Amino acid sequence: MASTSTTLSNPLSANRAPLTPLSEALARLLAAAAPVLPAEVVPVLAADGRVLAESIVSALQVPPADCSAMDGYAVRCADVVLGGQPLPVSQRIPAGAAAQPLQPGSAARIFTGATVPPGADAILMQEDCTALADGVQINQLPRQGQWIRRAGEDVHRGAEVMPKGCRLGPAHLGLAASVGQSTLAVVRRPKVALFSTGDELVMPGEVAPEHMRPGAIYNSNRFFLSALLRRLGCEVTDLGIVPDQREATVAALAQAAQSHDLILTSGGVSVGEEDHIKPSVQSLGTLDLWQIAIKPGKPFAYGRIADCHFMGLPGNPVSSLVTFLLLVRPFVLRLQGLDDRPLPALQLPAHFDWPRPDKRQEFLRVRRNAAGGLDLFPNQSSGVLTSTVWADGLLDNPPGNGIRAGDMVRYIPLSEYLA
Ligand code: AMP
Ligand code: MG
Repeated sequence: MASTSTTLSNPLSANRAPLTPLSEALARLLAAAAPVLPAEVVPVLAADGRVLAESIVSALQVPPADCSAMDGYAVRCADVVLGGQPLPVSQRIPAGAAAQPLQPGSAARIFTGATVPPGADAILMQEDCTALADGVQINQLPRQGQWIRRAGEDVHRGAEVMPKGCRLGPAHLGLAASVGQSTLAVVRRPKVALFSTGDELVMPGEVAPEHMRPGAIYNSNRFFLSALLRRLGCEVTDLGIVPDQREATVAALAQAAQSHDLILTSGGVSVGEEDHIKPSVQSLGTLDLWQIAIKPGKPFAYGRIADCHFMGLPGNPVSSLVTFLLLVRPFVLRLQGLDDRPLPALQLPAHFDWPRPDKRQEFLRVRRNAAGGLDLFPNQSSGVLTSTVWADGLLDNPPGNGIRAGDMVRYIPLSEYLA
């Protein structure tokens, strides 16, 4: 973390520089996330989670013709009179078969999804009829149009069924297929190079817990950052752990910038002499944003190396996670042409005191309790990753705002971020 002396940057002047408010940082990042990535064509089956690059217009109507919503009999209402009179059955129409015009004074046996024969104006459920050896007895008077799904009632020919920029989920894939699409034009996945910095880091699996050298810790950030990126539709190149050395950092950044849309790093972006990210980015490109007025997550950085975006997250795991959710998530969504939906925050009562707020906007790890209020995870340190698994939301606390039990506070469900 920050040390008091450095050859690469001056911590005193850095500490005096005003921190950028979150809202301003976000606005600048979203403006920088342009243009939207180009389109590519993928099979509908592979399009879950992708963003539609062209709107889908239907070349046909769905259903293609009037069809039956029930297994039963198609009739002309005028042919059916009270008293359970029998009608001859003049044709049988299973789903997928062509229907002949209905002979006057007859019924057609029909099944769900089958085309209604021209001339019929109602379907009777088979439960309301009695099959006879030579016809059918209708036990209930039909209403005009009953149990008929009208041609085009789902989709009109020429209708835009999904707009460009829509994020595709399972139901969208079904709707696209229903109008005959086998492929879809979607926005290319953002290519993201991910690397962790820190000489203390060890990958789980490389060294068993009992053999860890003094001072070593497992790399945890890599795992949640990679998962978060993938959930947001990114293609991740994992560059592993880059040592705390200027040359190695510059080399890794320069290499990654050639073939990625975004480089995402964790750690090494503070003001200590082991923090090489900031000067390395500056030597290769520009650093446009650094240090945000939030807690946790102050040492966040944004810059560019040629055409590649760069985002540096703090090394502390909670800071890394929170800055990802607040800043990286909307950015990678925007790269795909999506507007980050405003987060559906709730106003809920705090069931705890928070007497010593920070001057920065705080994001506290909280959890809803059975009484409808919020409990606070007891250790809010930015190194305590347990808090992020315990919590089901973040409390967005304005700068300098002390909280007393019973105060209404702004709660952002984590499920909304992680969806
Ligand atoms: P830094 O931002 O590099 O000064 O790191 C701040 C703190 O986060 C230090 O305690 C690091 O050991 C820790 N840290 C940095 N990177 C990771 C990581 N990938 N996984 C877990 N902890 C990390
Ligand atoms: Mg470090």
